[in-house]
Amino acid sequence: MLSALLAGGIALTTAPAATAGSTGADRAQATIVTSTGRGGNSVAFTFDDGPGANTPQMLDVLAKNGVKAVFCLWGDHVRQNPDMVRRIVNEGHTLCNHSMQHQDMGGWSADQVRQNLEQTNNAIRQAVPNAQIPYYRAPYGSWGQSADVAASMGMTPLGWRADIADWQPPGADTLTQRLRQAITPGAVVLMHDGGGDRSQTVTAVDRVIPEFKGQGWSFDLPARQ
Ligand SMILES: [Zn+2]
Repeated sequence: MLSALLAGGIALTTAPAATAGSTGADRAQATIVTSTGRGGNSVAFTFDDGPGANTPQMLDVLAKNGVKAVFCLWGDHVRQNPDMVRRIVNEGHTLCNHSMQHQDMGGWSADQVRQNLEQTNNAIRQAVPNAQIPYYRAPYGSWGQSADVAASMGMTPLGWRADIADWQPPGADTLTQRLRQAITPGAVVLMHDGGGDRSQTVTAVDRVIPEFKGQGWSFDLPARQ
C-alpha cells in the first residue's frame, strides 16, 4: 500500500500536466486523500469492487447502524446491478468511480485514463441520472496519471490508510479483529463488498460498528484536512 501511495506522490510531482490549462488549484485537487476531514475519533468506511451479491446485505447492516459509507464501483458491475446502485444512492451513501473493469491503469496515457473514467461515470449515470460521483479510486492503488485526470474531471483521488485484506477471506473472526485494528483516528478504511464472496466482511462490519459507536466514534466521508 505504501509503495502505491508513494508512486502516486511521485507521479504528482513529475508527471506533465494532465490537461491543457491545468492550474495549481488542479494540482492540489489531485492530492490523494487518505483521511476524514476532521480526524479525531472519526473513520471513513469505503467498499470496493461492487455492486455485487453481498452489497444488499452490506447496505442492510449500514442502514441498521445508521452509518454512511463510500462505494467504489466497477462500471461493468454497475451495468449488471443498476438497482443496487440506485439503492446505494437512495440510502444516502456516496459514490466513487473505480474504473470500468478494474484495469491497472498505471502505465496508461492521460487520454486513455480519461476515456475509461468517463465510460464508468456514464455507466453509473445510466443507473442513476445526474448521480454525484465525488471520488475516484485507482484499481490496485496503481495511480499513474489517474489522480490528475480524476481531479480534472472534478473527482477527488481516494486512497486509504488501512486495508483489512478481505479479498482472500480469512474467516469472520480474523476480519473482525483486523477491522478493529484498522480503525484509527481519521482513517479511511478499505474493504470490499464486491468482486467475490464478501459475507465475512459483512459480518465483521456488523460486529464492529456498534462497538465503535458505543465508544463515541463517528463515521464520516474522506476529505482533505
Ligand atoms: Zn478494487
